[in-house]
Formats: sequence, C-alpha cells, structure tokens
Amino acid sequence: MPIASVNPATGETIETFVAHDDAEVQRRIAEAADAAEALRDTTYSQRAEWMKAAADLLEADVDSAAQIITREMGKPIAQSRGEVLKCAKNMRYYAEHAESFLAAEFLADPSVVTAAEAGSVWQPLGVVLAVMPWNYPFWQVVRFAAPALMAGNTGLLKHASNVPQSALYLDTLFEKGGFPVGSFRTLLIGSAGVATVLEDARVKAVTLTGSEQAGRSVAATAGQQIKKAVLELGGSDPFIVMPSADLEAAATTAVKARIGNNGQSCVAAKRFIVHTDVYDAFAELFAAKMAALTVGDPMDEAVDVGPLATESGRDEVAELVDDAVAKGARVLVGGSAPKSGGWYYPPTVLAGLTDDMRVVLEETFGPVASLYEVADREEAVKIANQTTFGLSSAVWTTDAAEQDWFVDQLDAGAVFVNGMTVSYPELPFGGVKASGYGRELAAAGIREFCNLKTFWKA
Ligand code: NAP
Repeated sequence: MPIASVNPATGETIETFVAHDDAEVQRRIAEAADAAEALRDTTYSQRAEWMKAAADLLEADVDSAAQIITREMGKPIAQSRGEVLKCAKNMRYYAEHAESFLAAEFLADPSVVTAAEAGSVWQPLGVVLAVMPWNYPFWQVVRFAAPALMAGNTGLLKHASNVPQSALYLDTLFEKGGFPVGSFRTLLIGSAGVATVLEDARVKAVTLTGSEQAGRSVAATAGQQIKKAVLELGGSDPFIVMPSADLEAAATTAVKARIGNNGQSCVAAKRFIVHTDVYDAFAELFAAKMAALTVGDPMDEAVDVGPLATESGRDEVAELVDDAVAKGARVLVGGSAPKSGGWYYPPTVLAGLTDDMRVVLEETFGPVASLYEVADREEAVKIANQTTFGLSSAVWTTDAAEQDWFVDQLDAGAVFVNGMTVSYPELPFGGVKASGYGRELAAAGIREFCNLKTFWKA
C-alpha cells in the first residue's frame, strides 16, 4: 500500500510520500530510546507543562489540523474540528491527573508482610510502538500519546498509510510543546515493517488500534517477544430499544450513533435491536431521519455524511449490503453507491435480516444500519451477544431494574444507557472478545504501559 494522501471526496492524490528507509527507522528508534532515558528523569510537573503547551498549540491550530483530517479521510469538517479539540482536552486531562494516577501506594499495615514499609510504584516501560488507524487520525494517536508521555514513556507512531499528513503533523507536536527531541516520532513505514520494529530490543511494548486481522498479526509478534500489547479492534455494537424508551430521542441518537465519522467508528451503533411493541414506530422514525441526512462534500459545513475513507472500504460496505439483499433483506433507505465522484455510500437501513447474511456477524464500517425485531429482553441480549465482537453497547429503557439487568448481561467493554457510546478521557475504554484487550483512557489507560513495581523494606 503506498503512503499517500488521497482525497476520498474526489479520488485525487494530494501527495505521495517516500517510506523511511532502514537507516532512518533505526535513527528514529534510537532517538526514541534516548528520549525515554531523559524523560523518565523528568518530573510530572515538567511533563505537564510541556503537555499543556502542546495542547495550546494544537488548539490554536484547530482549523488547519481539521482540514488535514477532512482532506485525508473525508470526515465532515465540523467533526474534524471536534476531534482536534478533544485531543487537546485529553492532553490537559492527563497533564492534570497523571501524577495522582501513578502515585506510589503504601501498605497501611506493612507488618502483615513482615516489612517496615511496603507498597508499589508505577514506572514507565520505555519506548512504545503505536500502530494506528485512519478513522480518527488525531484522536486515536493522542488517546495513546498523552498518557504515555505523561507516564514517562516515549512513542513511535506507525500510522495508517492513507493518513501520512496527520502522521507528520503529530511527529512534531509534542516536541514543539517542549518534550525532549524523539519523545514522539512518526515512522513512515508500511504494515510489513511493523514486526521488525516490534522485535527491536529498544521497543518495549505495542498498542494497536485497527482491524482484527492486524491485531492478530501484531499480537503474535508481541507474544513471541513477550512484550506487553494493548489491542483496540473492531466492533459491531448493539443499540437496544425497549418499550419504555423515549422513541423520538432514541431514534435521533441512533442516527448520530450510526453515521458519525461517516459510519466508520469502532464504537458506532451498528445493529439496532428493537422490542416488537415499539419496532414499527422506531423503524419509521429512524428510517425517516436516516433518509433526511445530507450527503456530500465533507468540507461543506452543512453536510452530515461525507465519503468513505478508501475505495476498498466503500466497496466492502457495498458488498455486505448486496449480500444481505441477495439473501432477502429489505432496504428501507439507501442501499446502493452512486456511480461517480468520490467514495460515497448513502445512509442505509436494512431490515428482515437472517443469520446467513454477512452483515449479521461482520463489522459494517460505513453508514449502514441493521434492524432486528425481538420479542423480549432475553432475545435482545442473545442477538446483541451473538457476534465475535464485544466493544461497546447501548440500551434504551427507563426501567431502572431493566437498565441494571442489561448492564450485567451485555458482553461488551461498556454499556451506555439512554445515550450513545462516546469515549471520555475520564472513563476507561476498550473491549472484550475479538474487540481486543487492555484499556485506554482514565487511570487504567495510563497504567497499561507501566511497570507496577513492588517494594518491600525490612
Ligand atoms: P487496519 O487495516 O487494521 O489498519 C490499522 C493499522 O494497522 C494501520 O496502521 C495499518 O497499516 C496497520 N496494519 C494493518 N495490517 C497490519 C499487519 N498485518 N501488521 C501490522 N500492522 C498492520 O484497520 P483500518 O482499516 O485502518 O481501521 C478500521 C478498523 O479499526 C475497524 O475494524 C475498526 O473498528 C477498528 N478500530 C478500532 C478502534 C477501537 O478503539 N477499538 C478504534 C478505531 C478503529 P497500513 O495502513 O499501512 O496497512
């Protein structure tokens, strides 16, 4: 795959980049390793100052950073600005909380372990490789980088090959804020070069956000090397609507949860599982709202849905819909790609799904919603849990006991009640099953790439 920025709204190549050769990769790994030595001796308050300075720079540059995102991967421009500002927020969050999240803990009564003093401290691991996807080209990276740098680790970024301008922007951001040179470095390499970097003794751990296939490959190398890995992979999140729900609010949120980022979000609601008592009313509202969306140039502020990021991604979504239709699914809205001009796919709603359709079990990475009608909450959970994924989930019900029951029963890394899944710096984020392992964000996120070192003093 060439390393290139291609505008998905037009299919035109904006710029191609020459991959770093072995010598440059070695130079950058060495720089990151040296920076890790320097960074671990700095104080939290020093790192926080640099992190806040980098956040200020990013915020001041929000418009041009957002344009890079939209031009490279087609997200509506207002959402790109939102992504950039969310990064700055996350950077400030970790600047403020890293020290308390990683504070030493002392055993209240050390005599139980025959010590005068005992407890644990969190220490950085060193250089962490980050393999990242194109769908949130700034947020996915900063979600990792802010806690990593605040913990005293350094980062090497292997970004998706279709977002090199985002990758190069992030290459210098933290350095500009004041972090030692090499604290965060981009490697312009293809996916075939990842294993060699991870096998390098100077690289201590890896985080990957991306597809299941990429996760398996990187986790295998990490396993072979006995290096810590965090995997944030795909999802096919359920969005359950029960009879007590506010249907108008549920349908409005359902649309937002499905079409944000042009439908290309791991935690997008993808399967809409609706109780039979409210199925017809919800389906009508939801279909009408999906049909009313504006599709077009993502640079246009009025557009709700832009193109998919790549031609192959658009073709995969079309294949899933075609497969379902060929096997008897009903198309309530959308259902076929326009013939010309960019990699667009219209907001689509499918009903009448059967288990032999690929869309039932696979991840639909585009603005396509599947509707399921269920008799009761047990059937809702059975369908919700039937995929191999377990990232997040949403359930709409005003019955408090039912809310608790769903929180308990859903096989996912998160359950959002009467709302949609959103990642917040303050809450842990991650999945179970084929959606991966490990957590990002909150205290759990910063601790993933630390050595929890126990101390015992006689
Ligand atoms: P992808 O093809 O897996 O690419 C992600 C990253 O992995 C890219 O940098 C890619 O590099 C690299 N890569 C691909 N195959 C690899 C391999 N065999 N070895 C090492 N690196 C490899 O995924 P994508 O299409 O960009 O992103 C969409 C997927 O990411 C979806 O499944 C989505 O649900 C998931 N995702 C998950 C989360 C989460 O937090 N759980 C968040 C966002 C996205 P190249 O570009 O050079 O191939």
